[in-house]
Amino acid sequence: MKCVKKSRHLYLGPPEFILTLMNLKEIPKVELHRHLELSVRHSTLRELAPAGGIPVPNDQVFAERFLITEPMVNLGAVLNKFLDTQKLLGSSEILERITYEACWDAYHIEGIRLLELRYAPTFVRQGHEHLSFQQIHDAIVRGARRAQTEVPIAVGLICIIQRILPVKEAEAVTQFAIDNRSTFVGLDLADNEEGFDSKPFAPFFQRAATAGLGITVHSGEANLPKAPRYVKDAIDYLGATRIGHGVQIYRDPEIMSYVKARGVTLELCLTSNWLTQAVTQIQDHPLRRLMEAGVRTTINSDDPGIFNIDLVHEYELLQKHHHFTLAEFDRCNDLAAEASFIPFAEKQKNWPRPLRKV
Ligand SMILES: [Zn+2]
Repeated sequence: MKCVKKSRHLYLGPPEFILTLMNLKEIPKVELHRHLELSVRHSTLRELAPAGGIPVPNDQVFAERFLITEPMVNLGAVLNKFLDTQKLLGSSEILERITYEACWDAYHIEGIRLLELRYAPTFVRQGHEHLSFQQIHDAIVRGARRAQTEVPIAVGLICIIQRILPVKEAEAVTQFAIDNRSTFVGLDLADNEEGFDSKPFAPFFQRAATAGLGITVHSGEANLPKAPRYVKDAIDYLGATRIGHGVQIYRDPEIMSYVKARGVTLELCLTSNWLTQAVTQIQDHPLRRLMEAGVRTTINSDDPGIFNIDLVHEYELLQKHHHFTLAEFDRCNDLAAEASFIPFAEKQKNWPRPLRKV
């Protein structure tokens, strides 16, 4: 009897640990920061790989070619993994399929109710020049719509400009996003910030905002001396209301206050930040510190396919290493739902609690 009592006590644990994996899965979630190209279902990658010239005889080869599960030390090897996945995305049928599967899995496996997927037309098209930006986009839209006929999930697509490409390309991508205003909800700027200043992109982001697109910018991710300053530039010059990562602002109290005062939302991604060594270990991630300082913080997965994670896994990390409670998860999700660029009525239809218009 004594023994049963003891094990029961151990099972329940202190209140902050009683959220089980099943509970975590069932929390209604918002995903604001997920790259479609790097969110491909593993069984689909295995199926497509041989025809794309990448034989996958066993799990080890699959992991070597397609997964990043340890902190990155060799950037060249990482880039190759991105490119291996990208090589397989060479037809409208495949793009429609991976989008459909990403939406379906997000709802059924992760409990996501509002899903923003982003992609870079220039990245998808690389090596697949027979596809136009429009054909790529139309296929992705078809995949998302097909999933939405089957699952109650709101989906918004974000168009990415790659900052490492010539400015002329950025102009073409901006125009493409504006021309497809009815099926894109936002515009993003991605890739390494060092040596690629935000300011030359300012006119494009102004045009996109005027056309009604939401503005989010990858910034303050890598542990660079000027990282917090880059975040301020993204807000001041590009009009970002959301920042992809922004994790490094915790190092600069002034910029942290600025982000808070402007009501800018951070799209934080724990595992991604650890794998890129933006933070040295999950325990050191400043998400809780930023949240408690009043910065609008949200929980996201970035590249779940290639990182071999999903959003439930990120919640587990926050519960285990940062003692997140259900109320704290709900708070981050409500902030994310408010900050989502998906039209308000569609968000509210799919969200279980009343939302504030921001
Ligand atoms: Zn990202």
